[in-house]
Amino acid sequence: MKPIKLGIIGCGIAAKDLHWPALKDLKDQFEIVVVCNHTEAKAQEFARMVGNVPYVLDYREVLAMPEVEAVDIILPIELNRQVVMEAAKAGKHIMVEKPLAANLVDAEYLVELEKGYIPVTMVAENFRFRSIFYQIKSAIATGKIGQPYTVFWNNFNCIDESNPYAKTQWRIHHQYPGGFVTDGGIHNIAALRDIFGDLTGIGSFTKSINSGIGQLDSFSFQFSTSHQVSGVLNLFFSANSYAEDRLIILGTEGCIIVENNTMTLKRNDRIEIIEKFDNDQGYTEEFIQFYQAIRSGQPVKSSFLEAYHDLKVIIDALSSATK
Ligand code: NAP
Repeated sequence: MKPIKLGIIGCGIAAKDLHWPALKDLKDQFEIVVVCNHTEAKAQEFARMVGNVPYVLDYREVLAMPEVEAVDIILPIELNRQVVMEAAKAGKHIMVEKPLAANLVDAEYLVELEKGYIPVTMVAENFRFRSIFYQIKSAIATGKIGQPYTVFWNNFNCIDESNPYAKTQWRIHHQYPGGFVTDGGIHNIAALRDIFGDLTGIGSFTKSINSGIGQLDSFSFQFSTSHQVSGVLNLFFSANSYAEDRLIILGTEGCIIVENNTMTLKRNDRIEIIEKFDNDQGYTEEFIQFYQAIRSGQPVKSSFLEAYHDLKVIIDALSSATK
């Protein structure tokens, strides 16, 4: 089958550091035919990086190119609604970075647009494609820890103004609730929903420790899930001198601990399984699914609808949070 002719809209950090490394290994599946950034230097640099392809400064030019079959939209979040809407009018297959939109009204609009739209629509929520979460689901489904009943996910790190993501103007002056908590935490919500079913918030609190990286940087969220699991997600992006990314799942017959790309499964105080993972973040897998959906009609697991539910969980939790 022929590679899909792809236009990339947005040539920033995620395009260069996350999408391009995946796409360059998928030359049989994707041919980048044009890239777009509204500031020329970035468009030019990225065009050179991906093989001296043509570049444009206005995304509407990408959408007007009949040879472009699919677009990969990697823009500031608040632009997603407009650009996705225009890409749909142009009849393109659409991959758009997470979160789906800057607010629930825009997200609902895009979910409506997805209904009945024939080309493929997909949100680049890479956590839905990380092998570590497939492994956890498989261990739970095969009864390795009995019935899971509680999950704790601690993500503590320190992002300051020197962090490249924190330097982007659209994050500093973010037009979506939550700042880093939403931009980063949506990944955790997507993974939790994927493993444990839909999340209902029970309580949450938020804090702003360093307003230099946005409106909020600290969030603790207590929830229950449709699979009868209760849990706590702690996201702290200004944790001075402390770093941890640890997921703990307690089941009636054992537990799973995920830390440092390693999954440990224990029963009766004995380690039964240790699995090490590459630092696989799921980007390659998500593009493979995009390709298969376009060329073979396979369903996508990261639809606009799923991404809407991810966003709703986090926005509802933020709006009811204690400060
Ligand atoms: P970024 O570095 O600011 O990239 C966005 C790019 O879009 C910038 O180069 C910006 O150019 C350009 N741009 C802005 N408005 C434009 C317009 N109207 N037309 C054309 N180009 C325009 O931000 P990022 O960190 O790459 O994030 C982009 C998206 O990726 C966000 O949705 C973010 O949440 C997502 N992301 C996902 C992951 C993940 O792990 N899945 C990680 C990081 C980011 P200027 O800078 O010149 O304005």
